[in-house]
Amino acid sequence: MSSGLGLYIHIPYCLSRCHYCDFNSYRFDSVQVEQYLKALAQEITLRASSDAIRHRLVYSVFFGGGTPSILQASQLIGILDHCRAAFTFEADAEVSLEANPGTVDLPKLRALREGGVTRLSVGVQAAQDRLLQRIGRAHAACEAEQALWMAREAGFSNINLDLMFGLPGQSTDDWSETLDWAIGAGPKHVSAYGLILEEGTLLHQEHRNGVIGLPGEETEAVMYRMTVDRLRDAGFEHYEISNFARPGFRCRHNLVYWQHQDYLGVGAGAHSFLAGRRFYNELLPARYASAIAERGTAVVWSEELSAEMLRSERVMLGLRLLDGLELEAFKDVLGVKDLSASDRVTCLLSDGFLRLKEGRVQITERGLLVANELIVQLL
Ligand code: SF4
Repeated sequence: MSSGLGLYIHIPYCLSRCHYCDFNSYRFDSVQVEQYLKALAQEITLRASSDAIRHRLVYSVFFGGGTPSILQASQLIGILDHCRAAFTFEADAEVSLEANPGTVDLPKLRALREGGVTRLSVGVQAAQDRLLQRIGRAHAACEAEQALWMAREAGFSNINLDLMFGLPGQSTDDWSETLDWAIGAGPKHVSAYGLILEEGTLLHQEHRNGVIGLPGEETEAVMYRMTVDRLRDAGFEHYEISNFARPGFRCRHNLVYWQHQDYLGVGAGAHSFLAGRRFYNELLPARYASAIAERGTAVVWSEELSAEMLRSERVMLGLRLLDGLELEAFKDVLGVKDLSASDRVTCLLSDGFLRLKEGRVQITERGLLVANELIVQLL
């Protein structure tokens, strides 16, 4: 058996559209879902039997979306069972599922846990109803609380909470309250992302028209700092720019991405990275389903990465992790034998944005605040 693989399964349906969302998701339609699941099963069978995959071991599965929990438990477990039959799973493979409050109940969560889902990622975002409404979330804060209670009752101990800061109308006090709430809820993992105004979204339009105001860069930096301090004080390891875990609970699937390992994505719009090649599927669920039925593949874009592109990606992704990346790989990308030969790096080191530790290059506390710009500057 050759090296391992992460498996991503895309469920492109939601109750409604959040105002900041530019993900590949569509309003739930039970008739279309049947056709979609049939195509998904077919794609899984075809991919699993291909030469590139047949001998790979699956060590993580991630149901993402969209809102996977919008499906019935039997549909989700049906997909998972189909994957288990088609691929070879590692004995303790992590199986994550994204769930939104308002789309789960206790019987569904019990069935998911019993059916082999090991990790639940709950989209909470904020602890204030007025903020949830402002960004178009389809649930209230109390529903998130109920979902977490039910998840525990159902036997889930490995729970992630997704949170978001920099929201319209959000104060630092609101964010502080959300963090307190999240820590009090006792998750094993927290993902906290700053809002990004993506073009084409309702929030982007409202902001351009002056209908909404955002907290601003300085306040967002305060919120980020607060996140890092508060979660660390509560015993979480800060292991990626926006991700925090109790010891032993880092998300294996997301580590596959950040550590530049291979993953296969199945479903509409799903991206894959396999043996140095990136490719993705048709975005629209109906077109995806007919492509699979007619051609046996829904891939619409593919690119072979050059050795140089692969090295750059490795650095770009590796620097997101607080463990950093090996000094040799870093020097290789910069094309230098010694870091002092690079003026950019010398400045970033002396200004305290990067540091060298035990043969690795790491981003510092100071660097974290400007991590994205810093990584772009380096490559
Ligand atoms: S639940 Fe997630 S995928 Fe669905 S609309 Fe909201 S942000 Fe987008």
